[in-house]
Amino acid sequence: MKRIFLVVCAFVITAGLLLAGCGNKDSAQGSAGSVASAQGQLTVKVLDVGQGDAILIRTGAQTVLIDTGDAKFYEDGKKGQENNLLMAALQKENVTVIDKLILTHAHADHIGRAPDVVEQLNVKEIIYNGIPSTNKYFRQTLKNAKDKGVQLTKVTAGTTVDLGNNVKFEVISPDEALVNKDSKILTDADKKNDKQAEANNESVVGILSFGSFKMMLTGDAEKEIEAGLVQKYGKSLECQVLKAGHHGSKTSSSEAFLKAVKPKAALISAGANNQYHHPHPSTMKMYSALGIMPYCTIEKGTITVTSDGKNFEITSEK
Ligand SMILES: [Zn+2]
Repeated sequence: MKRIFLVVCAFVITAGLLLAGCGNKDSAQGSAGSVASAQGQLTVKVLDVGQGDAILIRTGAQTVLIDTGDAKFYEDGKKGQENNLLMAALQKENVTVIDKLILTHAHADHIGRAPDVVEQLNVKEIIYNGIPSTNKYFRQTLKNAKDKGVQLTKVTAGTTVDLGNNVKFEVISPDEALVNKDSKILTDADKKNDKQAEANNESVVGILSFGSFKMMLTGDAEKEIEAGLVQKYGKSLECQVLKAGHHGSKTSSSEAFLKAVKPKAALISAGANNQYHHPHPSTMKMYSALGIMPYCTIEKGTITVTSDGKNFEITSEK
C-alpha cells in the first residue's frame, strides 16, 4: 500500500488552515474538545470496481456499502464481460454482513451488483430515495430484498442515518418535492426529457461525519442539484473530503459547489478508457485551480480514507 496523503487537520483552529503543523496530535486533540467522545476509527474505501461507484464504510459498529458498481464492464461503448470486481473486493475485505446498503440512484453503474449483494450477503437494510424505477437491476434488487425480508428505508433531505460509533450520514438530497415529482415519472426515456428528473439528480447525497471529520458523498448529482445545495446549506457543506459527483464528469463539480464544500481532496471512481471520458479534463483543471488534490481509481486502484474523528489520511492500493 502506498501512502499518498499524510494526516491533515480535520478542523480549523484559527482563521488559517492548518495544512502545516498538524502532525502534532496533542495540539489537535487539545483544540477539538467537541470530538473527545469520538472513539475508534472510521474507514471509507472507494473500491476499484471499474466504471461505477462502490464505497465501503466501516465504523467499527457497522459495515455500510454505498452503491455496488456495475454488473458488467463497459468496453468500446458496450457492456462486455461480467464485472466481478465488487464481490472480489468485498471478499478481500471479509465482508459477509452489510448493516446498511445505501443505493444512491437507479443506474446500472451504481446498482448493477445490488441484486447479487442482497442475494449472496447478509444485508440487513437497504436505504434509498424511494423513487420507483423500471431499471432491471433496481427491480431485481427489490425482489431479492423482499424474498430475503430485507428492511427497506426511504430517505430524503433532512434524514440522519446513524452508522454507529458516533458516525452519522446526514442526507441533504433529494428533497421531498423532487421525490414526489419524480415518483410519477418512471422510465429513463421520460426522465431524459426533464433534466431535474434525470436519475443522476435523484441521487442520495449526504455528509458522512465523525467528530470534526466530514466527507461529502454525492452519487451522480449534477450541477442543478449542487446549485440548490449551495443555496440551501451554504457553509454547512464544508467537508475535508469529496467523493466527486458523477465520476468527475463536467456535469458535476461546479465551481460554486467546490467553493462551498472546500475539500482538500476529491476521490473519483471511474474505469480505465471509459466511453464517457470520466474524469473530464475541465473538472481536473478546476480541482487544481482550487487546490483540491484528486485521487482517481483508474490510477490509484482502491482509495482508502481513515479518520480518528480529528485527522484523516488517504492511502491507495497503487
Ligand atoms: Zn454513475
